[in-house]
Amino acid sequence: MFWPIVDERALVVGGKANTNEQIREAVTQSAEETITFGRTLAELLTPPKLVLLRGDLGAGKTTLVKGIAAAFDASSEEDVTSPTFTLIHEYRGPHAILYHIDLYRIDTPRELDTLALDDLRSENSILLIEWGEKFPRLLQDCDVEISLERSGENGRSIRVSGL
Ligand code: ADP
Ligand code: MG
Repeated sequence: MFWPIVDERALVVGGKANTNEQIREAVTQSAEETITFGRTLAELLTPPKLVLLRGDLGAGKTTLVKGIAAAFDASSEEDVTSPTFTLIHEYRGPHAILYHIDLYRIDTPRELDTLALDDLRSENSILLIEWGEKFPRLLQDCDVEISLERSGENGRSIRVSGL
């Protein structure tokens, strides 16, 4: 599959046997580059999708969502903020509704149930979930996984699987 070039560091590093899945990888050197990468990624994201965003605090998960939401004309980059306390932010674009969800403060499956994430899933929705990997059900249901890892102060290595 064609992978739009973010810059020369974006590359396809491999594929998984017996699925069409490729693992795509990029290294960014600033928040702005991660936002740009998010915009590029958005071109491949068609609803409906459940996306898990993995990585430590400060890895750049929310920063990546800024680019994705902007590309969908669902929000400006500045208006995308962390849903750490609000848990769910909704951004409506002309072609998709994005739900940015942060489960950092959610500890039990019962608490997760109270968020009724299933009710957010629809033909035109994309769920972008931080800390979703804490819950096996979400790991099982997810379509796309994006992992971000720090390398140095501003370097981030980003791996995408499932697209
Ligand atoms: P998370 O949601 O994973 O906790 P955030 O996106 O909220 O992380 O924060 C990432 C922080 O790291 C921001 O302050 C951002 O400016 C900074 N940063 C530095 N370099 C990068 C990079 N290459 N990509 C993303 N964020 C970066
Ligand atoms: Mg965050």
